[in-house]
Amino acid sequence: MCRHLAYLGPPRSLAELVLDPPHSLLRQSWAPRDSRGGGALNADGFGVGWFPTPDGPPVRHRTTSPLWSDVGFAELAAVTRSGAVLASVRSATVGMPVVATACAPFTDDGWLFAHNGAVRGWPDSVARLAEQLPVTELLTIEAPMDSALLWLLLRRELRKGTEPGDALASLVLTVAAEAPGARLNLLLTNGEVVVATTWTHSLSVLAGRGSVAVSSEPWDDDPAWRAVPDQHLVVADRSGVELHPLAPRWGGPI
Ligand code: GLN
Repeated sequence: MCRHLAYLGPPRSLAELVLDPPHSLLRQSWAPRDSRGGGALNADGFGVGWFPTPDGPPVRHRTTSPLWSDVGFAELAAVTRSGAVLASVRSATVGMPVVATACAPFTDDGWLFAHNGAVRGWPDSVARLAEQLPVTELLTIEAPMDSALLWLLLRRELRKGTEPGDALASLVLTVAAEAPGARLNLLLTNGEVVVATTWTHSLSVLAGRGSVAVSSEPWDDDPAWRAVPDQHLVVADRSGVELHPLAPRWGGPI
């Protein structure tokens, strides 16, 4: 399993969010507490995306190095502050390439996106969905792997103006129907809103004092962390969190 997190709130250093907490993403990369879906280590790379200013586009750092071995990132993270961050550590699904371009976050149009899970039966199970994309869009895929295709499908919906929660929910239900057994914890932010899904893997939220955190595992022992039930959509911003069951109303073709 991969592990991912998103944070919106008062600016904090990337180190405070990703490296320093007692059960940080750094720790989750080598000692995750919840490894359902297999994979005991998240050592096939990582990525961190953040918004350096409230109005500008996000920037990313991605690499195939394990998070614990990237000393350059640790130095950068100590002095880089942001009020909107999405980060992910990767355990590559068998058959998927171990390259930096396969590491989340994926980004376009001011969005950051991550996927924790796997599309069962890749690539045949989702060929019908991929065929719906214009070839000019398909050719922009960053890596030949499931998460990168999910990003193209989601990006297309977002470009149509679909609400991010609706786009995410509809994508999960469509892919789950095409590829039964798919594991689809998705995470998306534009720096103002965070939307996420639970579809097999763990996820927790922490909200309050003008901030919200969404994370595969709570990164500290704050009793205010709430576990998100499976098959739910999370819609969150700096003022609060809503949870919605992933209902069939989102299940139409995308
Ligand atoms: N299938 C995705 C990948 O290979 C996500 C993997 C995961 O969640 N372990 O990157």
